[in-house]
Amino acid sequence: MNSTAAAPYRGRFAPSPTGPLHFGSLVSALASWLDARAHGGTWLVRIEDIDGPRTVPGAAQDILATLGHYGLHADETPVWQSARVDRYRAALDRLIAAGHVYPCGCTRKEIADSQLRLHQRNTTLIYPGTCRGGLHGKPARAWRLRVPDDDDEPGRAGIGGNPALIRFGDRWQGPQQQDLATEVGDLVLLRADGQWAYQLAVVVDDAGQGITHVVRGADLLDSTARQIWLQRCLGVPTPAWLHVPVVTNAEGEKLSKQTGAQALDTARPLDALLAAARHLGLDLQDPAPASLAAFQADAIDAWRRKLAQLPVINQKS
Ligand code: GLU
Repeated sequence: MNSTAAAPYRGRFAPSPTGPLHFGSLVSALASWLDARAHGGTWLVRIEDIDGPRTVPGAAQDILATLGHYGLHADETPVWQSARVDRYRAALDRLIAAGHVYPCGCTRKEIADSQLRLHQRNTTLIYPGTCRGGLHGKPARAWRLRVPDDDDEPGRAGIGGNPALIRFGDRWQGPQQQDLATEVGDLVLLRADGQWAYQLAVVVDDAGQGITHVVRGADLLDSTARQIWLQRCLGVPTPAWLHVPVVTNAEGEKLSKQTGAQALDTARPLDALLAAARHLGLDLQDPAPASLAAFQADAIDAWRRKLAQLPVINQKS
């Protein structure tokens, strides 16, 4: 266990207000709430509304109201990322001063055209590092975080001689690893359109809010090594991780606004909560609870039993 595990438990649910809360996001909200309650901890809600173009007006208020109908009340006043951009700027300035980031003048097309070191995974292009050595007269468009090279000074990140390999334990998914050099590449922290990247904002806020345990959907498992690297560069603690299985539609796609997820029915919260608990594999004692309070007590006990069956993870990455 690392030192953060001994700090008082603080967890969070961090929705992006791109539409109303749907069943997939309820599963993440419920899992993070249950884990906080099972640990006698504090549960926060953070509205991740920094991606201006994707933010839907009114969606954040709608999400907060829906969480309330479902009995998921934050223990502290929710924070909004759009009100915290000074913190992201300060973090970027620290990374600039420490030499971890560099300005990049490449367009998306130039990156796609640089076939030499181009790998394509899903739709994410791996940046070939063109501007690492300078802008070569191009105007700066974005700021990128330098990830370690496979051949950087061995042991710099302390992992088996390959500093680009980030290993971590996931409390649900078990041991994980990702090679940042070959699987990710230097990542954008401040985008060409002036928007702060999710990876920077989430790391700055998890650290600033003293989050000790992150519980979220497994679609974000792929972001975790990046966040651990950023935490190391910023010198902030790494929380414990738990990624719950994502909810998919009949086509096997992750439920989201884009894949046609329906907004939750606020009139019948228990039906969706019971379905969310079933998705999490919770062995509830009462299949037809009479109240939200009865469901919650049963689900917290079931979550504790579930935790006892999960892999024991050495959280030191
Ligand atoms: N805002 C992100 C999302 O809705 C989640 C961030 C996180 O939990 O780290 O996908």
